[in-house]
Amino acid sequence: MNVFGDIEQRGHEQVVFCSRSDVGLRAIIAIHNTSLGPALGGTRMWTYSSDGEALRDVLRLSRGMTYKAAIAGLNLGGGKAVIIGNPHKDKSEPLFRTYGRFVEGLAGRYITAEDVGTTVRDMEWVRMETKYVTGISKALGGSGDPSPVTAFGVFMGMKACARAVYGSDSLKGKTVAVQGAGNVASHLCDHLKNDGAKIVITDIYEEKAKAVARRVRGTFVKPDKIFSVAADIFAPCALGGILNDETIPKLRCAIVAGGANNQLLDEKKHSKMLIDRNILYAPDYAINAGGLINVANELEGYRQERALKQAEGIYDIIATILEMSTREEIPTYLAANKLAEERIQRISPIKHIYTGPSEFAGRLGELHRRARV
Ligand code: NAD
Repeated sequence: MNVFGDIEQRGHEQVVFCSRSDVGLRAIIAIHNTSLGPALGGTRMWTYSSDGEALRDVLRLSRGMTYKAAIAGLNLGGGKAVIIGNPHKDKSEPLFRTYGRFVEGLAGRYITAEDVGTTVRDMEWVRMETKYVTGISKALGGSGDPSPVTAFGVFMGMKACARAVYGSDSLKGKTVAVQGAGNVASHLCDHLKNDGAKIVITDIYEEKAKAVARRVRGTFVKPDKIFSVAADIFAPCALGGILNDETIPKLRCAIVAGGANNQLLDEKKHSKMLIDRNILYAPDYAINAGGLINVANELEGYRQERALKQAEGIYDIIATILEMSTREEIPTYLAANKLAEERIQRISPIKHIYTGPSEFAGRLGELHRRARV
């Protein structure tokens, strides 16, 4: 395991190893880049097979957060944390409160949230020890479920794709094949129905998909049939890695635009396979940035209307990515990366002027206020 090599390879600023054997805590907090603002990203709890696997995961995920915040136009950097352990067996109040104290010790350089393997309840324990937590429940003054804002952003991004392919951003009469009938998919289907789209939907829990289909007058298909539905748009809203050697040849759509994270199993190879089939791909981390926009809004005192207004901007973000991709003849995921990097480079120099100790006070003011109540 080449710890510094792994850290330097992706250009991370700081990686913090947290350990307290008396409470069973082993955690790694990775701060990738804070040029735009404090690093924000969730805490994942997972049974990693080795410390090296945990380190690589947190380095990969935190770098992804830098790009997501930058492309979404947020004044946030990229960070992520992993707790090594079994989320079904190893959780306890002392473990999460101890972890919270490590987060507090970073004095706002890293702001955490829930992620795979952690829940709102766990974050409430973390919050007993640090104000640097976001994405908490509405009951505690947080923003609650981010999926309505994520879904609205996906819908707007989808419309930008439709304009690029069909010359109009109306989805009236267009067929959208939706994979997954969870939180994001369900809200997305409501927007699609209101815009006049025809919906075909699936889920491994068939009843869930059938219920959404009934509500939006759509059609249910079995999970393995969703790829080959004759559709205008395929919307992956379930798990990652679903654009791969096996599924791409089955696709009969012109656009892939959905809410799931890490849709391309291999970015380079599978984005090329989509281009070869003349299928436009909306980069996942740009089109699903509504979730991050939602928690970022919590830092300034949450109002859902403001979060939705910001998520509406995903239309322009996707349109800009598609224009760059066409102009420079590069895959859309590379155009998104380039735009994110350009924003970081443009904004970083303004931070050279020191504005005094209250620099982050505005951004973190709401967190401080909440911590006092
Ligand atoms: P969810 O758990 O509510 O829904 C996911 C659904 O997909 C579940 O109903 C599950 O049964 C179904 N599913 C899993 N595997 C499937 C398969 N092979 N075929 C068909 N259905 C399958 O999750 P969600 O919050 O709706 O998130 C969906 C995706 O969007 C995830 O990849 C998530 O990481 C991503 N995302 C979510 C948000 C958010 O705000 N919730 C934000 C950004 C990204």
